[in-house]
Amino acid sequence: MIHVNPHYQKLQASYLFADIAQRVRAFQQRRPDAELIRLGIGDVTEPLPPACIQALHAAVDELTRASSFRGYGPEQGYDFLREAIARHDFQARGAPIAADEIFVSDGAKCDVGNFQELFATDIRVAIPDPVYPVYVDTNVMAGRTGAAMQDRYEGLAYLPCTAENGYVPQLPDAPVDLVYLCSPNNPTGATMTRAQLQAWVDYARAYRALILFDAAYEAFIRDDGLPHSIYEIPGAREVAVEFRSYSKTAGFTGVRCAYAVVPRDCMAWQADGKAVSLHALWNRRHTTRFNGVSYPVQRAAEAVYSPEGRQQVRALTDGYLRNAATIRAGFQAMGLPCTGGDNSPYIWVDTGRDAWEFFGLLLDKAAVVCTPGAGFGRCGRRHVRISAFNSQANVEAAMQRIAQALA
Ligand code: PLP
Repeated sequence: MIHVNPHYQKLQASYLFADIAQRVRAFQQRRPDAELIRLGIGDVTEPLPPACIQALHAAVDELTRASSFRGYGPEQGYDFLREAIARHDFQARGAPIAADEIFVSDGAKCDVGNFQELFATDIRVAIPDPVYPVYVDTNVMAGRTGAAMQDRYEGLAYLPCTAENGYVPQLPDAPVDLVYLCSPNNPTGATMTRAQLQAWVDYARAYRALILFDAAYEAFIRDDGLPHSIYEIPGAREVAVEFRSYSKTAGFTGVRCAYAVVPRDCMAWQADGKAVSLHALWNRRHTTRFNGVSYPVQRAAEAVYSPEGRQQVRALTDGYLRNAATIRAGFQAMGLPCTGGDNSPYIWVDTGRDAWEFFGLLLDKAAVVCTPGAGFGRCGRRHVRISAFNSQANVEAAMQRIAQALA
């Protein structure tokens, strides 16, 4: 008889987006004429930058001729892309990362979800609250937690992110071995300063812990003082793996391309105390389970670094950031404290009441959909996440309607 993996049965069904969809459907039945504006979604709305489209077309044309046809490529990614990434995303910012430390993939979700596979099941894992749910669920599936207790799992160290700590996870009271950090953050939009990241790097070095640093929203950072990569922090090469994605940077959510950075200095330890290279382990895992991102998609990602591509990506993210500023200013004018939206496409609004109640209010009175923060963790019970991924016209209309609804 085939037995199911018992850890999967601990998973709490994620009702968040199903619940939202069901409430929105009910609203549309009640008010079929209402023009709904969705500010809840984490998907982009604008088309690919023209430089990426041109590169895609040219690469597809290459595949039409035997002389320039390409089949399987290197699992870790083509050198042209790995070298462009190392040069533009890291070395240009003084972060000492080499091309052969980049692993190109089809998504940061898969990378950040898969990476925990390299570690023993009895390591102690720290998770910010609220959190991008992938970090939690993949550790549950791997058997690193006990049962779910209401909205939390036994055995995980939760790091509350609240107004008191500026929504940035603080060092834990009890030692942990693996910690997930995300900056700019989904869902809070908060960013970590150099000093805050340095404290985590120092912690990881002292405890021989590892930081999984999710920088999927790096392209939205505008404050000059903020670090774009954890490798701008001295000592990080030994204790941090970084995840990046072209999804939000360049509208690749449907095209699919991302990468993980695994420095050669990163180690984990065997039970007998012998150090093992994480670069070698991840290379083994990646080449065993993955056959590379398609050639045209890697050419499209490379085009992000061309002079035109850089300008177009900047214009794209600037547009979403303008929306974010409108949203943030709008809620602040209504007296609701906000974080995020300045270096991030997400705004985390402290509604001062139950998140679902506020969600219902915006839906019924303004026909605007937001995301209740409770779906991201206990610390989000009074918050909603508002996303800037929409057209400027829709964002402006939504904010006017919300101001009227809450007046
Ligand atoms: N990491 C964070 C924090 C995200 O919010 C998302 C997408 O919403 C991802 C990773 C996934 O990125 P990708 O589209 O590359 O899988």
